[in-house]
Amino acid sequence: MRNFFLALTTVLLTVACSDRAPGHADPAPATDHAEPAAEDSHESDTEHAIYWDYGDAAGPTKWGTLSPDFALCDEGRQQSPIDLSVAVANDKEVEVRRNFQPVKVHISYQESTVSLLDNGHTIQVSFDEGNTIDVGNKKFALVQYHFHAPSEHTMDGKHFPMEVHFVHTTESEELAVVGVLIEQGEHNAAFDPVWGILPREPGESRVLEGQDVDLDALVPQSSGAFRYEGSLTTPPCSEGVRWFVRLEPIALSAGQIATFTGIFNNNNRPVQPRNDRELVIDTPTYIE
Ligand SMILES: [Zn+2]
Repeated sequence: MRNFFLALTTVLLTVACSDRAPGHADPAPATDHAEPAAEDSHESDTEHAIYWDYGDAAGPTKWGTLSPDFALCDEGRQQSPIDLSVAVANDKEVEVRRNFQPVKVHISYQESTVSLLDNGHTIQVSFDEGNTIDVGNKKFALVQYHFHAPSEHTMDGKHFPMEVHFVHTTESEELAVVGVLIEQGEHNAAFDPVWGILPREPGESRVLEGQDVDLDALVPQSSGAFRYEGSLTTPPCSEGVRWFVRLEPIALSAGQIATFTGIFNNNNRPVQPRNDRELVIDTPTYIE
């Protein structure tokens, strides 16, 4: 867990050097960037990350060519995001039910004190310890969540205005991501504490002090989930990620969505081929 967390921190802090996706700032050469303000001293001597973004020259179709470390972005066969088809999933569900027990995800999020970081690609909300999900008999700890606009996964070909990814890991560095699609609707007060202090410059971080975030309010608790084996949706596009994308979206108001897209827009990787992967629906994935 510790090693993974350091590695993740390294990636996230070093990408903070990157410029905004087009629309926010003019891209600058990767060699030209100052080192970002590091949260931890061990980051200060970290080698600069490979520059990538969501534009044309260093965007998703080029990621695999930017570094040998990013080769999976081109060559991987189990990449994320994908289109989530209810029909395909239901079709598979019959087969899966016959052969396997559905994976049960038990989400047990406690109230947490959090820190926010604009890492150059998204707003990332990091957690202290104590928030976990159980996938079958395996416990995954929540490390961070972050946002994409529009959604990365599509549902029957349709994008949602936003998507949030809750990233979890085990001590042996296995990854599980719970994705929640965000539609436009009523004002969502559960987002107010975080939305009130969103960092707005790459490398900028904020700590939410004296006010805990109730994660349970951010995740639809009774919803089932699409489950499939995928990857990170950002370089290095590492595979072996267990994806659980909730069937039921949550809502943010138009104003709340605009607040985020005023900082980041089009920070979504296009859907990738599903190839021969199984896409199943687990219902329910939340068990008290
Ligand atoms: Zn993500």
